[in-house]
Amino acid sequence: MVRYTYAFTEGGRDMADLLGGKGANLAEMTRMGLPVPPGFTVTTEACRAFLATGSEPPGLAREISDHLTGLERAAGRRLGQRDDPLLLSVRSGARFSMPGMMETILDIGLNDDSVLGLAETSGNERFAWDSYRRLVQMFGSTVMGVDSGLFEDLMARLKEARGARDDLGLGAADLAGLVEAYKELIRLEKGEHFPQSPAEQLRRAVLAVFESWNGERARLYRRREHIPDDLGTAVNVQTMVFGNLGPDSGSGVAFTRDPATGSAGLYGDYLPNAQGEDVVAGVRNTVPLTGLERLDPASYAQLREYLGTLETHYRDLCDIEFTIERGRLWMLQTRVGKRTAEAAFTIAAGLADEGLISPDEALARVSGDGLARLMFPRFDTSAVGEALAHGIPASPGAAVGAVVFDSAEAVRRAAAGEKVVLVRQETTPDDLPGMVAAQAVLTSRGGKTSHAAVVARGMGKVCVCGAEEITVDPQGRRLTVGEVTLEEGTVVSVDGSDGAVYPGAAPLVDSAVMRYFETGAVPAGLVEAVAGAMRRADGVRRLGVRANADTPEDAARARRFGAEGIGLCRTEHMFLGDRRRLVEAMILARTDAERERALDALLPLQRQDFTAILEAMDGLPVTIRLLDPPLHEFLPDRTELAVRLAAAEARGTPPGAHDAELLDAVNRMHEENPMLGLRGVRLGLVAPGLVAMQVRAIAEAVVERGQAGGDPRAEIMVPLIDTVEELRLVREEVRQVLADVSKESGVSVDCPVGTMIELPRAALTAGRIAEEAQFFSFGTNDLTQTTWGFSRDDVEAAFFSAYLDKGIFTVSPFETIDRAGVGRLVEIAVAEGRAARPDLKIGVCGEHGGDPESVHFFHAAGLDYVSCSPFRVPVARLEAGRAAL
Ligand code: PEP
Ligand code: MG
Repeated sequence: MVRYTYAFTEGGRDMADLLGGKGANLAEMTRMGLPVPPGFTVTTEACRAFLATGSEPPGLAREISDHLTGLERAAGRRLGQRDDPLLLSVRSGARFSMPGMMETILDIGLNDDSVLGLAETSGNERFAWDSYRRLVQMFGSTVMGVDSGLFEDLMARLKEARGARDDLGLGAADLAGLVEAYKELIRLEKGEHFPQSPAEQLRRAVLAVFESWNGERARLYRRREHIPDDLGTAVNVQTMVFGNLGPDSGSGVAFTRDPATGSAGLYGDYLPNAQGEDVVAGVRNTVPLTGLERLDPASYAQLREYLGTLETHYRDLCDIEFTIERGRLWMLQTRVGKRTAEAAFTIAAGLADEGLISPDEALARVSGDGLARLMFPRFDTSAVGEALAHGIPASPGAAVGAVVFDSAEAVRRAAAGEKVVLVRQETTPDDLPGMVAAQAVLTSRGGKTSHAAVVARGMGKVCVCGAEEITVDPQGRRLTVGEVTLEEGTVVSVDGSDGAVYPGAAPLVDSAVMRYFETGAVPAGLVEAVAGAMRRADGVRRLGVRANADTPEDAARARRFGAEGIGLCRTEHMFLGDRRRLVEAMILARTDAERERALDALLPLQRQDFTAILEAMDGLPVTIRLLDPPLHEFLPDRTELAVRLAAAEARGTPPGAHDAELLDAVNRMHEENPMLGLRGVRLGLVAPGLVAMQVRAIAEAVVERGQAGGDPRAEIMVPLIDTVEELRLVREEVRQVLADVSKESGVSVDCPVGTMIELPRAALTAGRIAEEAQFFSFGTNDLTQTTWGFSRDDVEAAFFSAYLDKGIFTVSPFETIDRAGVGRLVEIAVAEGRAARPDLKIGVCGEHGGDPESVHFFHAAGLDYVSCSPFRVPVARLEAGRAAL
């Protein structure tokens, strides 16, 4: 018989798949003896069963009622009883934290009767009515589907009528009146009454949390964070404790270290006389934890102790939610906390220094994506003027964009290609689409633990929050700071690292981490943490890391970044600019002599290129790929040319001989599907002299470098092979040219010849191909294109967002390797290639070579190296190290 519920005393942190993160950690804290209000968790399995069938799983109601009896017995009170009622909270908690994306309902069990009992036993009438109005509001919006804005309007109107600045300015009678108004609102909107039965409240609340898994903002968040859609959420039902019982009560959030910078020391926000949701929602401004130390030193000392216990137990940064009820501290949640990239590196290094984790664990705790973020530029603070405002630096980075005041506008402008900064008083989960679309999020209220801060940090998005000098006027679509008013669309610069907001577009400079990679500058602080992680990664990784580079400058940079050679030099990039004319001449040649002349003109230029690149990579392998794209890419566009000729004709000027000849060539070479046409090795086999010219340029460059005392290590790579026959023919030609150059120069030139594996047929016949290839390099861009039948130039814009929406995949296969399909071809080719030639060297040079997740796949698949763009080289080194752990 399936079991759908677990008491907190039964679970533990290793049960997160079933109990969700929150449930598993509540159980863990209960086990550790920390003060956790008792409760139980409804499993993710129950949620999946509910979502699959649309109805409550059989037996669940009975299990819930059994647990409830247990809770009631332990508390000596019944749910919703008339005097001294037991009240419950119902909260979502998925396997992976999705802050604010799903529903929470507090104060379950209150009704028109029990509210009076609560008032009596607590001796605090205001508190009882405040709790009831919260329940009606949360239940009404979350479970019954009434627009939450309508409740807020009623509240705002009441505050205005009473001249109250915030909710604390409303008395018991005001709140009792508000409850009536809320109930009436529900009746009018939904045609049914707010349920008075506590059991019905509980049952419907649990199901509403299940349903919120498929809510729009939860789905969007999952897509963004690559969280699978089929996990479902657990639901935690817990005895309520109250932070809104008066000035000796309150709620807060705390971190064992600073989640933005990683510096040691407690960090958090506290809000006296409030329930937990108020802290994150930013309804009033919070005080820092030092404020709690002053207000309630005993609770503060206890909190410190528990945080220390948790950090040592979890051996990582923990964040917690806590409530103080009349001087008694309760722990409501803990988890290993989200953090910025900077904090991730700093904390990992700090914990390793303290001996709490090993150097390998420290490496496992940082990521290539985080490193990439730290390599982004920062604002040049010496060149920016006076800041417009300062807020709390909640998520670091530098962003420039036009201010917009609601989520929809952010989405609209971003879709039109504009960079925007979303400015809100505070954000709510409904702002998520706008936050995704914006470069940065700026709020005038809320602390480092506000919704805006937590969500932005999770996304790696720049965020400054609680910039109190700013008055946001969403209706008027403007903001004001003192005398200054900025209308929607005005550009600002937001510095998430120090909280400053500047008018206009501030100039950018390299980040310290980038400077370290560029110059090897002496590491300190964050850079030291990064350097330590890089050393460890280099020490343990098995995969080599090369770069895709076509110029000496890129090659030199890649080498500074730690590349161990070039895995792909795309020679077509050397045929652009002025040289295009020479390629054109080669294509238009009518006689062998004309063609040879054109090739002869290209030869010295190519030789120069190769010499310079071999020099920059002296002593390291440089894989040079023979020309790959269709030749007509070097000719003018067909339509443009036709229009030009037609216009000339209309003017009565006959077309020049050259133009007519060009059009003829363009027409002759036109292909409907050029990516599947005359390109790659096919071109080398039908365009006479092209392969020979390129190979000669390479060989002569090798001779030249050798004679200059260098150590050139060129490798020749043939693109787009389908069959071993193609490679055999090209290889014969290569051998001939190498022999010729060796003879002419008196220097023996021997370059390994290998091939790209970028077509399914090549992967499937890799054993045969390896007979002729000294190395393989997977061109996973083309391999993805041809395996899926997706045009790499078109499909992402055309329909990928629909595919992502429908959950067909969670990430583009052009970004992260598709293990099941393309990955399978890679595995087959590796196995069969190595079986045929045990010393076959194998790498990858598609874009996936610099993608963290794909690097882990290539490690597991047994490749020798990955090759990626120079800026991704440090990322690939780090991930290759992590893959080897
Ligand atoms: C590839 O196809 O993966 C590759 C590296 O070649 P290109 O991107 O130049 O087609
Ligand atoms: Mg390719």
